[in-house]
Amino acid sequence: MPSDTLMRSGSSKPSVAIVGAGIGGLTLAVALQRVGFRPRLYERASELSEVGAGLTLAPNAMRAYEFIGLKPAIVAASDRPERAALKDFSTGKTLNQLALARLFHQIHRADMQALLIKAVTDADPDAIRLGQEFAAFDGESKIRFTSGTVVEADVIVGCDGNRSAVRQALFGPDRAAFLNYVAWRGLVPAKAVEKVIAEFDSGGYVGGGRSLIRYRIRGGALVNYVAFARKDEWTADSWSIRSTIAELEREFANGCDDVLAILRATPPEASFKWGLIGRPPLEQWTKGRVTLLGDAAHPMLPFLGQGAGMAIEDAVILARALEHYADPDEALARYESARRPRTTLVTLGARHSGFRMHGIDDTETSDAGRQYTEAFVADYDPAPISI
Ligand SMILES: Cc1cc2nc3c(=O)[nH]c(=O)nc-3n(C[C@H](O)[C@H](O)[C@H](O)COP(=O)(O)OP(=O)(O)OC[C@H]3O[C@@H](n4cnc5c(N)ncnc54)[C@H](O)[C@@H]3O)c2cc1C
Repeated sequence: MPSDTLMRSGSSKPSVAIVGAGIGGLTLAVALQRVGFRPRLYERASELSEVGAGLTLAPNAMRAYEFIGLKPAIVAASDRPERAALKDFSTGKTLNQLALARLFHQIHRADMQALLIKAVTDADPDAIRLGQEFAAFDGESKIRFTSGTVVEADVIVGCDGNRSAVRQALFGPDRAAFLNYVAWRGLVPAKAVEKVIAEFDSGGYVGGGRSLIRYRIRGGALVNYVAFARKDEWTADSWSIRSTIAELEREFANGCDDVLAILRATPPEASFKWGLIGRPPLEQWTKGRVTLLGDAAHPMLPFLGQGAGMAIEDAVILARALEHYADPDEALARYESARRPRTTLVTLGARHSGFRMHGIDDTETSDAGRQYTEAFVADYDPAPISI
């Protein structure tokens, strides 16, 4: 049986195995390499590719990337909106306008992934192992992949996303539930909707059980959008079910002219939909030397645009904890107690924001929702906070 016993890097730094090479896993690898660790990433996919969609990095995520030296590469590859607005979904009436002062960075997911992979492999060409799907944990320090490979490490981090197999190995089967939103995404050539996007670069249309968020990427050449509809039922378990323009027109028939113009400009072969599935926040992330990070630890609705932001913050805090505390048990405990309260509140805040955006009475989460503020989310800096 193949085995991979990770060696302690150079000095006496613990060995770290990362399961999953998404935004969270790759960012953790960069953050660890920066302080002298030699992490190894195990990814299920046989090649690393990203869906055609955009990603917004808010100021909190950009501070994390500044700390680990990736800010210049991200700035070079992203768009920064100057004007943002929120409009009524059906009437198109302006509800809110915002000067963003170029604080947000909006980037194609494939470009973000490429620059993270480059950073990881420039530091260590041997860092990423593809075609490795996590299968089991022995309860101590070894994990096994479906390929038969067994890995032993001082610290194991499950960064394997919303449907995390590592989380289930640690804490048992999930209580996943459909959260009553279906999302459609599309990338539209900016030229096809020039008149619509001239008024503001980034923002959305909200209210009445429907919403559409849009922004520019790739030097303004593409408009990324995600449109959401409240639904009672959903059965498929996939991120990439094909949809059609006819279905978009039917689902969003009450949209204002701008909304319909954007949906109709979607290239016909490039409309995808998926149901938003959630899980209650976990009360524990760590068991022994294994912990969770990103969507594996705290899957959240996308209505604050902060899922990746939280994974990126987690990565910096975990790397700082492992650097600072020589005992991995202490480091993992510090990481979890620094991150669990914040990510739980942001998870509840995202749910609350979804209710607000869709004009739904929010008695269930209003108390928790009131505790979070936009500033609480975006003003955070993972570099100086004490852990
Ligand atoms: C509509 C929508 C819009 C969003 N927009 C934003 C936004 O603008 N800004 C933002 O901050 N966030 C946004 N998010 C959230 C963001 O995409 C996620 O929070 C983020 O990608 C989570 O990163 P991750 O690394 O934890 O997980 P993932 O990106 O899901 O990566 C998990 C990785 O693990 C691998 N994997 C899975 N299972 C296994 C296994 N068993 N063994 C080995 N490898 C495995 C996968 O192949 C994948 O590479 C959005 C989400 C949605 C749904």
